[in-house]
Amino acid sequence: MQFCPKCGSTLLPQKKEKKVFLACNKCGYTSTRSDKVVSRLTQDTEKIIVIGKEEQKIRTLPKAKAECPKCNNHEAFYWLVQTRGADESSTQFFRCTNCAATWRENS
Ligand SMILES: [Zn+2]
Ligand SMILES: [Zn+2]
Repeated sequence: MQFCPKCGSTLLPQKKEKKVFLACNKCGYTSTRSDKVVSRLTQDTEKIIVIGKEEQKIRTLPKAKAECPKCNNHEAFYWLVQTRGADESSTQFFRCTNCAATWRENS
């Protein structure tokens, strides 16, 4: 549901010349419809979801000084996840103590 920026009425989808746009019945405002599909999934977030089981233990995890990418908090829980590949070393993950954002150490 979108609202008219001019008068605040509900914008209704209209079709004209094969184009779909939103129009206001009150004041006649029209807006081209934005069909933005934002894919939030990145490789990193997929990997973080995989280690979800670890989150249950987080309350007892040690804290470290780390800057949260979301809220700029300077304290985060941290833990290590051993990757399956024998050649790869373990990866350090952080979870913000303020907003619970989780991210991976870029080493
Ligand atoms: Zn309007
Ligand atoms: Zn945060």
